[in-house]
Amino acid sequence: MALYVYKFGGTSVGSVERIKAVAQRVKKVHDRGDQIVVVVSAMSGETNKLLALAKAMQNTPNNRELDVLLATGEQVTMALLSMALHDLGCPACSYTGGQVKILTDSSHTKARIRNIDDERLRKDLAAGRVVVVAGFQGVDQEDNITTLGRGGSDTTAVALAAALKADECHIYTDVDGVYTTDPRVEPKARRLDKITFEEMLEMASLGSKVLQIRSVEFAGKYNVALRVLSSFTEGQGTLITYEDNQMEQALISAIAFNRDEAKLTITGVPDLPGVAYKILGPVADANIEIDMIIQNIAGDDTTDFTFTVHRNDYRQAKELLVGVCAQLGAKAVSGDDKIVKISIVGVGMRSHAGIASTMFKTLAQEGINIRMISTSEIKISVVVDEKYLELAVRALHSAFELELEPVES
Ligand code: ASP
Ligand code: MG
Repeated sequence: MALYVYKFGGTSVGSVERIKAVAQRVKKVHDRGDQIVVVVSAMSGETNKLLALAKAMQNTPNNRELDVLLATGEQVTMALLSMALHDLGCPACSYTGGQVKILTDSSHTKARIRNIDDERLRKDLAAGRVVVVAGFQGVDQEDNITTLGRGGSDTTAVALAAALKADECHIYTDVDGVYTTDPRVEPKARRLDKITFEEMLEMASLGSKVLQIRSVEFAGKYNVALRVLSSFTEGQGTLITYEDNQMEQALISAIAFNRDEAKLTITGVPDLPGVAYKILGPVADANIEIDMIIQNIAGDDTTDFTFTVHRNDYRQAKELLVGVCAQLGAKAVSGDDKIVKISIVGVGMRSHAGIASTMFKTLAQEGINIRMISTSEIKISVVVDEKYLELAVRALHSAFELELEPVES
């Protein structure tokens, strides 16, 4: 007998028919004698509707009350799914995050899970019931309702799987797995059978929105076998797991990209201790997230400083920088919000030289100018003009032969 945690996202429970289909899928697992905990999201669009209602009441809604409101979306789904299971003659019981003691800190709208008391869940499972749990929510020490941030049901599922030491955690969504790149950009993109936690983390932070990033961190930390699959089709999906010798032997596993970037440059900055802080301090104080940072030494004791921000923050960051420029006696501020970041990701590159040169050669052959470069152990990112995104992704996908099934070693 195995124990599974299945999570169904918004589109997978988006209608009465979809919820009934989920119930059928869950009943099959129950009928073959395995134990199953099901985590559900709000029906698609519901969380956004609730957010809009809150904003109609208060410009910046009170965070505690916002959590009380947002948590209701998942509560609707859990009850409906439990009813659908009863209708099929499958014993089931639904619980809110608070009822199964998903204890979080008190940071409303972005709470972190601290502890889960699995006693109640285990009792139900032992009694042969399917347990349905509302995703995305918990309670703090004072029993206030909290939520875990957008996409947080993924993290609920992984946390429950860790607490229950489940055999596998399945995340059912509207795509049938993790792809070598976005199939809408490169139709030859291939579904990966496996990907490592590290690679998935890079991909999640690079803007591929399959899983909430925190759920991947959690799964890596507690070694939860995590699988992403489609609730609309049959298939094995993609297993997110530790690196092992049986792993696909590709140097590069995937290409991720982010269209939401903008870059800012301040030139002719006096090269003195503390300038990086003076430039980025005000940006950070305005709660603007910074991604890539590059500083260059010019010959004349001045330095050029370039960094990227989310496109939505571009105007504000530029204004701040103009102020900083005057203060530091720097030369000029320039910027560009028509750029994208493209990254090649793969644990295989750790032990291979030449990946970067293949990447740069490929882009050069297409006449694509690279604006910025940054690297980590398992990724190389470049910033290029937005108009080259599709061309660059397809050229790299082909240069690294990602459309081919890798050979098992
Ligand atoms: N319903 C929440 C959201 O839309 C949580 C989730 O779906 O995971 O973000
Ligand atoms: Mg989601």
